[in-house]
Amino acid sequence: MTAERIDGKAFAALLRERVGALAGQFSNKTGRKAGLAVVLVGEDPASQVYVRSKHKATLAAGMESFEHRLPADTTDSDLLALIQQLNKDDAVDGILVQLPLPDHLDEQTVIASISPDKDVDGFHVTNAGRLAVGQRGFVPCTPLGCMMLLTDRLGDLSGLEAVVIGRSNIVGKPMAQLLLDANATVTIAHSRTKDLPSVVKRADIVVAAVGRAEMVKAEWLKDGATVVDVGINRLPPAEGEEKGRLVGDVDYAGAQGVASAITPVPGGVGPMTIAVLLRNTLVAAYRNAGLEVPE
Ligand code: NDP
Repeated sequence: MTAERIDGKAFAALLRERVGALAGQFSNKTGRKAGLAVVLVGEDPASQVYVRSKHKATLAAGMESFEHRLPADTTDSDLLALIQQLNKDDAVDGILVQLPLPDHLDEQTVIASISPDKDVDGFHVTNAGRLAVGQRGFVPCTPLGCMMLLTDRLGDLSGLEAVVIGRSNIVGKPMAQLLLDANATVTIAHSRTKDLPSVVKRADIVVAAVGRAEMVKAEWLKDGATVVDVGINRLPPAEGEEKGRLVGDVDYAGAQGVASAITPVPGGVGPMTIAVLLRNTLVAAYRNAGLEVPE
C-alpha cells in the first residue's frame, strides 16, 4: 500500500480563496473590511516570519491587517493597554498576540485580556471552555485545520478510534475535543503514556503533535490508518547542507507503506493554520456585525 498524500497546501489555498470571496461580500454588506490585529513583542526571528506571512495572507484575502510591533522590553501594562484599545476598536475583528512572549511577560494574563469574541487564536480560557461544553466560540487554528483535513478525507468520523499524541492547550487537547465532538472514540497520549506503540496500533486516526522528529514509527500504525502529522522539527544539517531538513513527528517514508493517507511535512498541516486563522477572523467579523456566518 502507498498512502495517499493529504495535500494541506492545496486545501488551504482553496480555503483562502473561499475566505477571500466571503471577505469581499462582507465589505459590500458592511462598507468596511474585516480586520485582524497582530501584536508582536520583541525580535524573535521565527515570530517575525510568522507575523509577516500572516500580514500578507490577511491582505491577500481582502482583509485589513493591523500590525503592532513592540520592543522586547515592553511592560505588561503597556501591552495590556494596547490590547484594551484593540478590544474597543470596531475596525478590529480579530486579535492575535504572537507567542512566545519575552520571559518577563505573563502569557496567560495577556491572553486573558483579549476579548473572547476577538480571540481568533482560540486560546482564551473562555473559548477553551466553550469548546469543552460544545458552545459556539473560537477553536485554535491548527487543530481545526487538522479536523478539516480529516473530515474532507474520511467524511463521518463516528465510532472511529482516534489517538492524539500530545496534550498541549493549543493542539492536543482541542484536537481531542474536536474528534470527540465528531463522535470518534478518543485517546490522548503523552509523555507518561505506557507502551505508546500499542496505543497507536488501535487507531484509525493518528494525530501526532509532539515535537519529536520522526518519533512515530511505521510499525506502530494500524494498516490503513489516516495520519495527521502536526510536528515541525528541523533535523541537524546533513553534510553539505546549510540547514537541516524539516520533518514531522511521524516517519513519513515508513508510514507510507502502512497508512492509507498521511499529511506531509512541510505542506500538510502547516499551511492550514494560517488559512484557518483567516477563516476565524472572517467569522469574528460576521458575528461582530450581527450577521449570519456563511459556510
Ligand atoms: P508542546 O511541547 O506544548 O506539547 C508536546 C506534547 O507532546 C506534550 O503533551 C508532551 O507530553 C508530548 N510528548 C513529549 N514527548 C513525548 C513522548 N516521548 N511520547 C509521547 N508524548 C510526548 O507542543 P505543541 O503542542 O505546541 O506542538 C507540538 C508540535 O506541533 C511541535 O513540533 C510544534 O512545532 C508543532 N506545531 C505545528 C503547528 C503547525 O502549524 N503545523 C502549530 C503548532 C505546533 P507531556 O504533556 O506529558 O509533557
